[in-house]
Amino acid sequence: MSTELFHQPITALSAALEGKRLTAVELMQAVIARTKAVEPRVRAFNSSDEADALAQAAASDARRAAGTSLGVLDGIPIGFKDVIAVTGQPLTASSKMLANFVSPYDATVTQKLKRAGAVIWGRLNCDEFAMGSSTENSAFHTTGNPWDVTRVPGGSSGGSAAALAAGEAIATLGSDTGGSIRQPAALCGVVGLKPTYGLVSRFGLIAYASSLDQIGPFARTVEDAAIVLQAIAGHDERDSTSFNAAVPDYRSELGKRRGPWKLGIPKEYFAEGLSPEIGAAVEKAIAYYQAQGCEVKEVSLPHTQYCLDTYYIIATAEASSNLARFDGIRYGHRSAKAKDIVDLYFQSRAEGFGAEVKRRIILGTYVLSSGYYDAYYLRAQKVRTLIRQDFLNAYQEVDALITPTSPIPAFKIGEKSDPLAMYLCDIYTIGVNLAGLPAISVPCGFTSGHLPIGFQLIGQPFQEANLLAVAHAYEQGHDWKTKYPSL
Ligand code: GLN
Repeated sequence: MSTELFHQPITALSAALEGKRLTAVELMQAVIARTKAVEPRVRAFNSSDEADALAQAAASDARRAAGTSLGVLDGIPIGFKDVIAVTGQPLTASSKMLANFVSPYDATVTQKLKRAGAVIWGRLNCDEFAMGSSTENSAFHTTGNPWDVTRVPGGSSGGSAAALAAGEAIATLGSDTGGSIRQPAALCGVVGLKPTYGLVSRFGLIAYASSLDQIGPFARTVEDAAIVLQAIAGHDERDSTSFNAAVPDYRSELGKRRGPWKLGIPKEYFAEGLSPEIGAAVEKAIAYYQAQGCEVKEVSLPHTQYCLDTYYIIATAEASSNLARFDGIRYGHRSAKAKDIVDLYFQSRAEGFGAEVKRRIILGTYVLSSGYYDAYYLRAQKVRTLIRQDFLNAYQEVDALITPTSPIPAFKIGEKSDPLAMYLCDIYTIGVNLAGLPAISVPCGFTSGHLPIGFQLIGQPFQEANLLAVAHAYEQGHDWKTKYPSL
């Protein structure tokens, strides 16, 4: 193998593990050494337990030696966004509120990955409670983009994207409420998949906005994303919104579904504010599909202009309700200064939450308050239906939609101080969450300043197999996945 171990995809590493050319312990040691070397600059991790990871890797090697390998993920180190529960590991949501919290249980996705033999590796930084687009809202530190550590990796799952791009994990998990997997994937030059709402269990995911949240993979290739999705998808009775349907074999479907597809270009997604370099790179990707025989046509999603407003009403309303549980009583930060019980609530929340989280709790409480509920929350729910209908109408004519993932490439740490400017980073990703659809960001080039660019493919509900196949078709014809940041 010429490429360094820590930069290789799951497919290559699992073949080497199967072929006894590599052990899981050697792989884990390579990832740990790489992490030690680059982490002072990347700062993707909130915590990690090397001894525990090496013990898991040794157990994987023992299974293989005994002929009881658990499959393609057995021995593969996977990093977790610090909002997904792993028994005995810290679970902080990058918040002071949970700075000392250790999870007493596994998320369903964690359980599934353990059963697949993956090595559960490291807690990855994010914006506090997944609110943000840059990891700058983390209460602990800001993660650097591996392509230029003076720039943000995107967010909120910035640590997950950066760790993967830097070779500090072989795949990672993130969560996506308005773009938090796809936008950092685009900014860090990796693949990021947000599944259809209901495909992956949210049990054990710290809730931000429950009707929008989904867990999904970051991976080096589309095939790797298919492998991880395969492992984490499926019905779970512990998540009442989990969808009960058979999960196809996404990896083997990749080779079977060959198109040509009908692709729609939503005209509202190529508007003012889009970086010309990103626009040009996405146009090139579109041209590639055309050259492969795909039919490409312009479509309209007329309610796109309302996505941002709708999102920031619904997401903050749900967040204000979800975060009410952090009261300083049962778990999480408890103020030492409180005079009485009411003061304890106030002080604990005042000390435990950061500015952006407070902003959203206040906004969400306002839109839910009596007298404003109908004007804001109820109305936003109606507009949400119209937004979803726009997509479903487009799918009468096309199989998938193609858009930029982010309007701009990675920006400088500290560059965006205005919350609204930050919210605009998700202009192309939030509609997908409001509509509950699957979408993937795929690398499609670099800016003149060597910053990664990604394009987004948006699929039909529960048609991840098609979505992955469309993405795979592009990836097969390009070699962006073999470019690594020179850290
Ligand atoms: N950036 C968006 C927000 O701040 C989306 C975050 C996410 O998907 N978790 O809400």
